[in-house]
Amino acid sequence: MSSSSAKFRNPGIVYPGLNPPDRTCNDDKCPWHGHVKVRGKLIVGKVVKAKMKNTVSILHEYLVWVGKYKRYERRRRKIHAHCPPCIPVKEGDDVLIGETRPLAKSVAFVVLGIIKSSPQSSIPQHSTPASM
Ligand SMILES: [Zn+2]
Repeated sequence: MSSSSAKFRNPGIVYPGLNPPDRTCNDDKCPWHGHVKVRGKLIVGKVVKAKMKNTVSILHEYLVWVGKYKRYERRRRKIHAHCPPCIPVKEGDDVLIGETRPLAKSVAFVVLGIIKSSPQSSIPQHSTPASM
């Protein structure tokens, strides 16, 4: 592939705002440091749950054309995606996920990178009210 001595293996995905992670990891299912091949769909979605180990839940909103009413219908679905330890994903982040082979029973996507970090932690735990 490229002759630069980078520590990661580029998964061959070019997407605006997508950068390789700063850290490395030993995860075999990492698209940058493992042996997972990304092919198929690329989806940008918001992380709604990041409590599982190395797996995140992503909300994908999309439009479906309904011919009878000549309008779009808004649909949403949650997608489980594998999140390697080298990508620090928080709840509320917009991430790019790519389709892979099935990695677990309900996981067939992998997080490629964070497109937009959430401005602050999505759960305002212990937020002190600003001076009024
Ligand atoms: Zn990695």
